[in-house]
Amino acid sequence: MDHLPIFVKLADVPCLVVGGGVVAERKVALLLRAGARVFVVAPDPVGGLVLLRDRGDIVHIDDVFDPRHLQGKRLVIAATDDDAVNKRVAGASQSAGVLCNVVDDNDESTFILPAIVDRSPVTIAIGTGGNAPVLAQRLKSKIEAWLPTRIGELAQRAGGWRGPVKRRFATIEQRRRFWQWFFDGPVAQHFLANRGKAAERLIRGELMGSSTYGEFAGEAYIVGAGPGDPGLVTLRAQQLIGQADVILYDRLVAAPVLDFARKEAELVSVGKSAGGDRERQEWINELLVDLVRQGKRVCRLKGGDPFVFGRGGEEVAALRAAGLPYQVVPGVSAALGCAAYAGIPLTHRGVSGSVTFATARLDANREADWATLARPGQTLALYMSAGSIGPSARALERHGLRGDTPVAIVENGTTGSQRVLHSTLAEIEVQAKSADIAAPAMLFVGETTALGRDLAWFESQTSEPAFPEDLHHRKAALL
Ligand code: SAH
Repeated sequence: MDHLPIFVKLADVPCLVVGGGVVAERKVALLLRAGARVFVVAPDPVGGLVLLRDRGDIVHIDDVFDPRHLQGKRLVIAATDDDAVNKRVAGASQSAGVLCNVVDDNDESTFILPAIVDRSPVTIAIGTGGNAPVLAQRLKSKIEAWLPTRIGELAQRAGGWRGPVKRRFATIEQRRRFWQWFFDGPVAQHFLANRGKAAERLIRGELMGSSTYGEFAGEAYIVGAGPGDPGLVTLRAQQLIGQADVILYDRLVAAPVLDFARKEAELVSVGKSAGGDRERQEWINELLVDLVRQGKRVCRLKGGDPFVFGRGGEEVAALRAAGLPYQVVPGVSAALGCAAYAGIPLTHRGVSGSVTFATARLDANREADWATLARPGQTLALYMSAGSIGPSARALERHGLRGDTPVAIVENGTTGSQRVLHSTLAEIEVQAKSADIAAPAMLFVGETTALGRDLAWFESQTSEPAFPEDLHHRKAALL
């Protein structure tokens, strides 16, 4: 970080602007908005500045710049069109220990002005370290468009309730939950829709009525984290990850997705444990139920989609049996993510009219229905362990699928280290071995997979592991 963004209180603080042109005029306007006492040094100011002087809004010093003008000033902006003068202002400010911004000159400036989104008291400052002001402007207009118009008023109303909320709720935890309810729920919606009275009624109900808002019940969020690329996480998932107290995450949740968590949240990797799959799942179900019972908001974060080979159903059943509340948020499943990022259409007019999500990992009692999976004219998306590529391919051939049927493997799909291997059903086993394909990987089978050779667009950039073991594990004391 080249510059530390801070918000400086300038009400009644003497500030100096050197220069009398339109650029200076804009800076003066900005300082006035922050309530500063503005002095302008310029021999021949433009009309707008003259007007401000005549109205008494600024003090005009009819002179060329002299270091003594810095006396008593907190901030200086050099906004003349004369480089030599600007440099002199910067030098003198440095000696006097006054912060100085030289317009359009990053090197001479000791502070720079960000692009500003002003919905006071909500203010958003966007900086690029002086490298790309146009980019900052772009971001600013995006934020302007996205930010609710009345967000400033919402913040102000919240400010007004801080005292009563503090008196009503003893612990920080309770207050944080109240404010989350305030901003995420109907209260904020009412305020933003200009229904202030309805909002106030709700708040009063919570604060003074018989409501037991302080004793929030826990809840489980069963959330799909998508296949790896954090850009594929849904907004809803992001929101719930951001408000959870505990996050129980799988091995196939990519590290950047966990960055959506609050910094106080406890992150617990449940990807591995002693014992078999069944013991692990039972342990996770119990942990989930326990934590929710303790009143925590627990985000159970799974790779891809929780209801596609994610065992989300079993966790939901455990929560239901315990009578605990939950919600389920879908995610981009690996089949969809990998196909898209490998340019493989899953259906394609005239080529494939259906797609089947299946798993090649057979449990003890259940053989996959290879006869159905081997039907031509469809696309098959196989979730699997890397070791089952060969057996799956052979089973499909045995059930009648031609050896020259195009197939593709996508390893670490949608991440920076994605690899795509195109082959045929007959040759994939050998080729996957020599390419050293490892988990996680998807096997796609069918004529559409060949289209990926032409339609691929995504370039991988690294050979770093996409799903590092026990990523930045903020250890919980709860296990
Ligand atoms: N619920 C998950 C699937 C979990 S099963 C989902 O909807 O995606 C785990 C299997 O998913 C892995 O063995 C692999 O076959 C596949 N998989 C998950 N993430 C993957 C990725 N980024 N690239 C390739 N395959 C992936």
